Amino acid sequence: MSSTLKKAFPIFASRTERFHYLDSAATGQICAAAAAALLGYETTARANVKRGVYPLADAASNAFDAARASIARYIGIDDANEVIFTSGTTMGLNLLAHCLTAELAPGDEILLSELEHHSNIVPWQIAAARRSLIVRAIPVKKDGTLELAAIEGLLSARTRIIAVAHTSNVTGAISDTSRIAEAARAAGAYFVLDGAQALPHGPVDLKRLGCDAFAASGHKMFSATGAGIVWMNKELAHRLPPFLSGGEMIRTVSLKGSTYAPPPHRFEAGTPPIGACLAMGAAAEWLASLDWTAIESEERRLTRRLLDGLSATAHTTVLGPAGFCHRRGIISFDVDGVHPHDLCQFLGDRGIALRGGHHCAQPLMERFNLAATTRASLALYNDDADIDALLEGLESAVRLLR
Ligand code: PMP
Repeated sequence: MSSTLKKAFPIFASRTERFHYLDSAATGQICAAAAAALLGYETTARANVKRGVYPLADAASNAFDAARASIARYIGIDDANEVIFTSGTTMGLNLLAHCLTAELAPGDEILLSELEHHSNIVPWQIAAARRSLIVRAIPVKKDGTLELAAIEGLLSARTRIIAVAHTSNVTGAISDTSRIAEAARAAGAYFVLDGAQALPHGPVDLKRLGCDAFAASGHKMFSATGAGIVWMNKELAHRLPPFLSGGEMIRTVSLKGSTYAPPPHRFEAGTPPIGACLAMGAAAEWLASLDWTAIESEERRLTRRLLDGLSATAHTTVLGPAGFCHRRGIISFDVDGVHPHDLCQFLGDRGIALRGGHHCAQPLMERFNLAATTRASLALYNDDADIDALLEGLESAVRLLR
């Protein structure tokens, strides 16, 4: 199956040398449907959106609306106007941190977790410093999952926001969103979900996940870099103040003051990354057409193979949950006595693309008493040859580098 899927990604046919791409948690490869949408718009259909009335501009605006609708369907949202285009998860989380905290009072609390990506930590810290808020974090258990039993003790009458990752970009651990949603509801807090690592693994149903707001990136779901989305519930979107400001987000402007357009436009100041937004819509349409039961079962099998192979490799320790039901194929490991950067360089020279470092999750590294790990992350195009190459390469690295 992965060989058929591989054909839908132009990069694989373009590489003549050995190429085992295991860094999809950093960025997924672009699928043909997204690449065609991007190139088609930029070369033969380019006009600005929401402005002109001539046919080319009209067609661009219609395509933009259609992309929004495709993404809304992929995340289980009925009203496409609840989907706001951003430049990616980082901008989305900055938008949410900025706008949601505008309503808070000094001393109000925000609950994050120890496994968050820096983009779900720093924007909240900056907002907290600006508005004298308190930031707390749910601890992480030894297996990389959240210590949800600690939530009760961390919540208070002042908790206003809970913001956590759907899936850890370091260990692949999947958060128990229904328990967090329940805790948020009981506390009267908003539940913000960082969905960057969720969308590459199939459609999601945000209504079932129970969040109030969600951020994700197009490039991680096999589209172009430069576009992403925020979703937030209607009531919030209509109430919150804007984030960035300028053209296209206003209703009226006078030199005395301005009024704002309704969402989503209120949150989409300036010319959006149109080609990348259309590509994200095309990726969502294509991904939605796939057999995710089969893809997930293949990801589970390959993850199991990799986890077993790593556990059997001398001096190697895997971080994160052992069972697939609580994790995705994002696997961080430590090879005692070999620095992740040396390991990634060694394997990179042999055509195996991995990531070594703190993965923008320094608090999690601290939790595990590590400065860095090596990470292999799987996507729908990976196959047994990728796992074999990594495990064989690792054997040699352990022999030669230790
Ligand atoms: N959150 C998580 C969990 C991520 O994995 C990433 C990307 N590594 C981000 C946020 C930030 O995404 P982006 O760089 O696309 O804005």
